[in-house]
Amino acid sequence: MAGESEIKETYENGTKILEDLTNNAHELQEQMLEEILRRNAGTQYLSRFFPSGQADKQNFKTNVPIVTYEDIKPYIDRIANGETSSILLADPINQFLRRSGTSGGQQKLIPITTESFEKGCFSVSDEGKSLSLYFSKPDMETPSGLVASPYMTFYSKTNIFKTRLAKFCLSPIETILCLDNKQSMFCQLLTGLLQRDKVVWFASNFASVLARTIKFLEDYWRELCCNIRTGYLSDWIIDPGCKNAMSLILTRPNPELADLIQQICEDQSWEGVIKKLWPKIKYIRSVCTGSMSQYIPLLEFYGGGIPLVSPSYVSSEACFGINLKPLSNPFDVSYTFLPNTAYFEFLRVNKDGGGKAQETRTIDKPVDLANVKLGQYYEVVVTTLAGLYRYRVGDVLKVTGFYNKSPQFQFVERQNVVLSIDADKTTEEDLLKAITNAKLILEPFGIMLTAYSSYSDTSSTPGRYVLFWELKMKDSNDLPKLDVKIMEQCCCIVEESFDFTYKSLRKGGAISGLELRVVKRGSFDELMDFYISKGASISQYKPPCCLKSEEAIKILNSGMVGKFFGPKTMS
Ligand code: AMP
Repeated sequence: MAGESEIKETYENGTKILEDLTNNAHELQEQMLEEILRRNAGTQYLSRFFPSGQADKQNFKTNVPIVTYEDIKPYIDRIANGETSSILLADPINQFLRRSGTSGGQQKLIPITTESFEKGCFSVSDEGKSLSLYFSKPDMETPSGLVASPYMTFYSKTNIFKTRLAKFCLSPIETILCLDNKQSMFCQLLTGLLQRDKVVWFASNFASVLARTIKFLEDYWRELCCNIRTGYLSDWIIDPGCKNAMSLILTRPNPELADLIQQICEDQSWEGVIKKLWPKIKYIRSVCTGSMSQYIPLLEFYGGGIPLVSPSYVSSEACFGINLKPLSNPFDVSYTFLPNTAYFEFLRVNKDGGGKAQETRTIDKPVDLANVKLGQYYEVVVTTLAGLYRYRVGDVLKVTGFYNKSPQFQFVERQNVVLSIDADKTTEEDLLKAITNAKLILEPFGIMLTAYSSYSDTSSTPGRYVLFWELKMKDSNDLPKLDVKIMEQCCCIVEESFDFTYKSLRKGGAISGLELRVVKRGSFDELMDFYISKGASISQYKPPCCLKSEEAIKILNSGMVGKFFGPKTMS
């Protein structure tokens, strides 16, 4: 495919810089831990665990407990309420990052320092420009006056962003910093269309944002064309930054370009629309692993065969790793861990023989980066310069190989995101596999699954799993005609794909037949809007695979257009 060699070259050049890091993974990890202890052992939090005063690696491993957010929250709250951050870490904290909490729980405040942040930043280098969809959210202030922002909101205001990433972005910084996501999205897309010949890659942090962007384009392409045709910006764009930036880009009427875009968008089928709108595009760059893998078929469809590159595995707590094989199948991406960003440990996660989750219970003592074993599942634990010590991030990973001496991991799932009625535990990964099997039978009918979620319904006895599916016809935006038999077959395949425990409980009558609720197009956008209204940021939104919030369930229920059930009994 055209462009593949260029992508490879870009990444291989980057890889050369990584040789040193990955060859010295163990030594760098040791140095990292020593440095963290040297600086922070005297803090109120850590000093309790070193009564003899000897803050070495051995004592760290024996004495410092492995914790979750709940354990450190009292310290975070104290700092947020005005106590000095030196109770937790030696360096002054700059601010907090707000972790989204959409996949499985509450929002979290993660402390950062300049140094810890810079260690987690990696530059992108490529020729040409990106249409990168980034968004901001209003900052929050803690009672002590510290700012708490989502990762991308914070990042886009830093000099690192301005000097490195912004160089490649077509979107003017004012459009990224605009706090109204709709105005921001409109202006970013308008910029991308006006400069369509410059766009070499289409990007966002997470694939959910690109899915949302395409939906927005479906809803707004006529208006975008009208702006291009007349040279006038829509009058609902009132954000001064956006207006100002767009006045430098939307400088004249361009009816030829508007006609061309209109012609592309008027096509019945939007298959390959990204390639048609941006003819020089080489790849789509966005996290497509974990819960984002549900968007792969959609992006492949709209991308018309452009490679999907999942670049990195990063969270508000740390930068874990990068994908050194950008062209690997998006379902098989592994991330090579970077040993100089934080100190990593790994808690083994118990999975049964076939790699299918039986019970994701962590066992044994954690091992460090150099001692993980090929094929094993682990939950990652980080210790950072910014005040997290043996902190469980909550992600389950599988070791797939090594690059030099640094392990490579596949992202498997969030820990504890499970459907459960009785003794069954169906994880994010199990659900994804089951749905992937089932949706295959919809393909011959030209029906695509564009988003899904689920919850455990225990309102009646016995309880059941409920799935929400948003479906779309490949060649139009019409609601698919749903054949009851086919949909019931989908329910059967999903149930058949679940594990032994589920099936035996189901056969024994402890779980009722699965219920599949099909929702109208746009329902999952409403769900996203709901989480955004609760504080999540668009740029970091992770679609929740298992819903816990009554309100969220209500939103999807209100978009329901059909309901189907698995068989009364399972044979
Ligand atoms: P946040 O700090 O809100 O951006 O969320 C970080 C979380 O996003 C991680 O702990 C993962 O659960 C998820 N995440 C980040 N990068 C990836 C990735 N490459 N693949 C799958 N999930 C990811």
